[in-house]
Amino acid sequence: MKTNINLGIISVYEFMQKFPTEDSARLHLEARRWASGRFCPACASVRTVEVKGHKPMPYRCQDCRAHFSVRTGTVLAESKVGLQKWLMAIYMLHTSRKGVSSIQMAKQLGVTQKTAWFLDHRIREAMRQRGGIFSGTIEVDETFIGGKEKNKHADRKLHLGNV
Ligand SMILES: [Zn+2]
Repeated sequence: MKTNINLGIISVYEFMQKFPTEDSARLHLEARRWASGRFCPACASVRTVEVKGHKPMPYRCQDCRAHFSVRTGTVLAESKVGLQKWLMAIYMLHTSRKGVSSIQMAKQLGVTQKTAWFLDHRIREAMRQRGGIFSGTIEVDETFIGGKEKNKHADRKLHLGNV
């Protein structure tokens, strides 16, 4: 799957084609977050494995044994809203010129207005920061809890840049 999809320029039709399922949305977000390889959000180790039948936390770190998903340590973890809906909300906010009301967003996503309000605020906040939806993941480094230096993802070894 192409990973450099610019949500701001594709049509609704293209959006629906690219993200027809929750899995396709997850794969897109994973490719964005872990562009140069998956690594543990707790200790930055690259020695991670996929755990079958462990859907909410499909990966496990072989160094610190933490279970994680693409949501872990990001704004996506703060809500149970599906990743497809997160992407749709991001898409709506990126493409609408006049802005989107939470009533409108709630209707189109099939979520409560409270959830729409939450998504709206979180995404707007993320859009203002470098690193977009995955900004803020740097904080994970502050709570660094182990892992061998040689197994660490290159981004974490060298600097604390945005993922
Ligand atoms: Zn780890």
